[in-house]
Amino acid sequence: MNLQTKTEDAGRLYTRYTSLLEKLNVITLEDLLFHIPFRYDDYSLISTIGKLQEGEKVTVHGVVVRIDNIYTKSSKKLQKAKIRDETGEMDIVWFNQPYLTKVIKAGDRVALSGRVGRFMGKLTLESPEYEVLSSDLPTIHTGRLVPVYPETRGVSSKWLRRRIFALLQEFKDELYEYLPEDLIEKNGLMTFPEAVETIHFPKNLEEAVRARERLAFDELLMTHLSGLVRKQTWKNRDVTHKFSITKYQQQIQNFWENLPFELTAAQKRAVSDIFHDLSSEKPMNRLLEGDVGSGKTVVGAIAMYVAYLNGFQSVLMAPTEILANQHYKTISDMLTHRGVRVALVTGTNKSQINTNKKEKHLKFDILIGTHAVLSEKITFDRLGLAIIDEQQRFGVAQRSFIREKGKSPHVLSMTATPIPRTVALTLYGELELSFLDEMPKGRKIVKTWVVPEEKRNNAYDWIHKQILTEKTQAFILCPFIEESETMQTVKAATKEFERLVKNVFPDLKLALLHGKLKSKEKTEILGRFREGEWHILVATPVVEVGIDIPNATIMLVEASERFGLSQLHQLRGRVGRSDKQSYCLLFTESRNDLTLKRLKAMETMHVGAQLAELDLKLRGPGDMYGTMQHGYKGLKIASFSDFPLIERTRREAERLFPQIHTYQLLSRKLAEKTAELVSPD
Ligand code: ADP
Ligand code: MG
Repeated sequence: MNLQTKTEDAGRLYTRYTSLLEKLNVITLEDLLFHIPFRYDDYSLISTIGKLQEGEKVTVHGVVVRIDNIYTKSSKKLQKAKIRDETGEMDIVWFNQPYLTKVIKAGDRVALSGRVGRFMGKLTLESPEYEVLSSDLPTIHTGRLVPVYPETRGVSSKWLRRRIFALLQEFKDELYEYLPEDLIEKNGLMTFPEAVETIHFPKNLEEAVRARERLAFDELLMTHLSGLVRKQTWKNRDVTHKFSITKYQQQIQNFWENLPFELTAAQKRAVSDIFHDLSSEKPMNRLLEGDVGSGKTVVGAIAMYVAYLNGFQSVLMAPTEILANQHYKTISDMLTHRGVRVALVTGTNKSQINTNKKEKHLKFDILIGTHAVLSEKITFDRLGLAIIDEQQRFGVAQRSFIREKGKSPHVLSMTATPIPRTVALTLYGELELSFLDEMPKGRKIVKTWVVPEEKRNNAYDWIHKQILTEKTQAFILCPFIEESETMQTVKAATKEFERLVKNVFPDLKLALLHGKLKSKEKTEILGRFREGEWHILVATPVVEVGIDIPNATIMLVEASERFGLSQLHQLRGRVGRSDKQSYCLLFTESRNDLTLKRLKAMETMHVGAQLAELDLKLRGPGDMYGTMQHGYKGLKIASFSDFPLIERTRREAERLFPQIHTYQLLSRKLAEKTAELVSPD
């Protein structure tokens, strides 16, 4: 084989790994360096062959006496080796790794790590990690804490370990500490170069923990800093429409007083935050977070009214046509009689738009619609305020597009996704936040009980009675088995449904709804449930029962301990949509104190963001699954549940930011100066 083919092979190999590594989000060498182990195998106990104990995790050093490929009767391939040290000999076996006889040769000194087992009466290591020893390199797969990485088919931890080790050897000297010394000292941090090396190859677990702390610190610090930079950029936007509030005090007050209800204290706080933004020199960029039904729309309406009074247009963008229609009706009812022209534009409703070609601008003060409002055909001549409802449903591109529609209009985003305040501050560093952490008065809270197994039958009796005497309806939610709905979930739900029909509610009418049904079937079942044809709707958790069924007042959740609190809160939100008292029954067989404590929180807490926060706290850091369930992406090392670290890094970021900012300004000025100096005239 000549060198040419070798390099070609190597090239091919490389491309093969590139696409595999992409699956692990490793695209650059830097990504590889920050591909963080999620645990370590402890092979630091090094033992002689003579001292081995069955069951222990060890590393053995020895010389290979022989190694062979063996075919079993069932034509499987085994690799059998014998190794020796000064205290004895032992057999090693691997399965189906024929290339091993090429890597390990008789006479090699090797290190083998694994758990000591027994085979045919003799102590053995089964499929151990292996490493051919050489005198000048430290071991990386054996004889130490060995990093275990997120893997993908074809990219093993061993492969990653070798690449990362080589990378560290090459770049170690180019890593330097970039944070100020006093900050490092004050926070007791490991230095950056040390942390990068240690996170992969720690000497002990304490070191690994400290390395992780340092990198988590940096990750959060950078997140906060980039939020601050984005906020600053936003604030540097020049054209602003400074609205007057005081000038229109009377009209605003009049609007306020003529609402059919009194604003909650939380709504009043949000309105005052917004007034403050609208009347300042800089464009508003605020997120209003509040549970479904907390009354975000009216807050938005007040802001749009202020824009109108100041002679500016507003746009309100909603993610679905149904929502856009609903907003159109609500906002028109509130504002049309005050002289405000409200228009609607959705995918199916383009007719509302003025199609007169000569008339370039629509005649409206407030435009409400779906993303159709972004259409090029629609031009605003004096857009002053943009409101984005359910902002998480829109992409970044759509959100920034709406900003370009006007010259830096004020932007108010609204969301019902329960995110704890701390997390929101981290994720949306560039936004100001207002929380509606209070429901309108008179809204009945959903009475919630955690129901232990022994009360199951009582609960069924109670539901039965409620349905017959109160003429109400109930949801029964089957256990949450897997993230996505598989046939297994459907089967379990079907079985539960049959049990309920036969043994529990034989005299009631029940229907079953699951994700594998066609959407037409789903709509039909839901429609008939709404019309009262069924008493109970048995459903799988992933099925969207979000549709409004005001007559249903009971929500029973099976195996509730498998849900996050925010999820339970959202499920609970499906009842309590009328003036009738609603109930949520959380069934659980768990007897674990912590689990019960977590569930019991549902009985007393009724604000989504607070439940989400508690959920994160109780699950504790490092709970990947919990974090994933919440869908907070973007952090690789740090955890959103580590509130103290989030707080600490935010303070540090705020302290550092002015320095960075002045530095940025300085370098921009220098760049301008340079340009001036070198320009020909
Ligand atoms: P969301 O925050 O989910 O967008 P909405 O703005 O749609 O909530 O409000 C839900 C309902 O509550 C609406 O019918 C609205 O008129 C009503 N509402 C809003 N604020 C109050 C309040 N302070 N008191 C009573 N009802 C209110
Ligand atoms: Mg809403």
